[in-house]
Amino acid sequence: MNLTKKIIIALFLGVIVGIGLSFSSPDIFSTIDNYILNPIGQLFLNLIMMVVVPIVFVSIVLGTAGLGEPAKLGKIGIKTISFYLITTAIALMIGLGVGYILEPGEEGVFNDIGDVSYEEKTAPPIMETLVNIIPTNPIEAMTSGDMLQIIAFAIFIGIALAVLGEKTSGIYRLFEQANEILMYLVNLIMKTAPYGAFALIASAIGGAGLNAIGSMAMYMIAVILALVIHGAVTYSIAIKGLGKGSPIKFYKEFFPAMSVGFSTSSSSATLPIAMKIAQEKLGVKKSVSSFVQPLGSTINMDGTAIMQAVATVFIAQVYGVSLGFNEILLIILTATLASIGTAGVPGVGLIMLAMVLNQINLPVEGIALIIGVDRILDMIRTSLNITGDAACAYIISEGEKRREKKG
Ligand code: ASP
Repeated sequence: MNLTKKIIIALFLGVIVGIGLSFSSPDIFSTIDNYILNPIGQLFLNLIMMVVVPIVFVSIVLGTAGLGEPAKLGKIGIKTISFYLITTAIALMIGLGVGYILEPGEEGVFNDIGDVSYEEKTAPPIMETLVNIIPTNPIEAMTSGDMLQIIAFAIFIGIALAVLGEKTSGIYRLFEQANEILMYLVNLIMKTAPYGAFALIASAIGGAGLNAIGSMAMYMIAVILALVIHGAVTYSIAIKGLGKGSPIKFYKEFFPAMSVGFSTSSSSATLPIAMKIAQEKLGVKKSVSSFVQPLGSTINMDGTAIMQAVATVFIAQVYGVSLGFNEILLIILTATLASIGTAGVPGVGLIMLAMVLNQINLPVEGIALIIGVDRILDMIRTSLNITGDAACAYIISEGEKRREKKG
């Protein structure tokens, strides 16, 4: 049986077992979770996290060096960042639109919102993040897993290798061989994905307390609907229109990566698998994939943006606040900026949401309303987050290929 089929079965079983567990007694769930599901899921997560930092570093060095002149890197960089910003803005508009049409917070079931509380965690200010992209200590950036800093350092090394050429061919070769080793490891780790995915999903769904969904069902439907629209419409149009490729084939091939995103709820953890599939199954050029996808896993989170848009509208409706044009514009601006520099790890979307709510003076406590169901939505939006990065890599790579053909 091939890997995709195994993963589909694992997803399915994980959901069924998770739903079953969510209705069992809390004691039974916590015993099964502590002794079986959590350790298996954590082992799988550790395995992939083990290769994330080396892969990002090695592949960006190689990707940058492989592009040749720094000017080309600049062009691809501008295209990548433009794609990311535009699709995030579209995602936010879809989220806001669906929020306004479905009105998930207008049910009247939230009369009793007086006693909710949420302890705000602060996201780093945008300017600080931008200035800190250049690491003062690259080794520290690697040990703490600061993706943007690792990316910046790797780009510098890559440029140096490209400029120095023959003189540093030994080191270049070393990076190539390191890359071979890492890709081999990803292959091995992927073989354990069905088991890891099963355990993570059963654990997440079992622990989310599905019976608590009740009044939040409409909010969840709104978020999921907006996520599906963005994936099925925005990306498909981009893949077809800009990449001249088949969206169906894209999704079929990319599915295993989406399922890892779904089970881990982390763009960073999904990165090694997403890059491997993009390069080997979607034919994305290595130099493009290794630059565009790591960058995207940190700065591009369309799924998260959608959740934030729907959540903001939802919270505004619950608290009876109407949002004007200025507020809408502020939401789009802050949510787009907020996603830059926040690592792709589970639950970070809520921290960024606090920033957006603050910006438009909505009560941050509103987050307490949605926190209970966020774990499930995190799974789905993370799948979309990494799909956006791969779609961008695919489109840019196809463009490069066409340009090379023309000569
Ligand atoms: N878990 C998401 C990711 O890693 C971020 C979030 O929305 O919380 O992409």
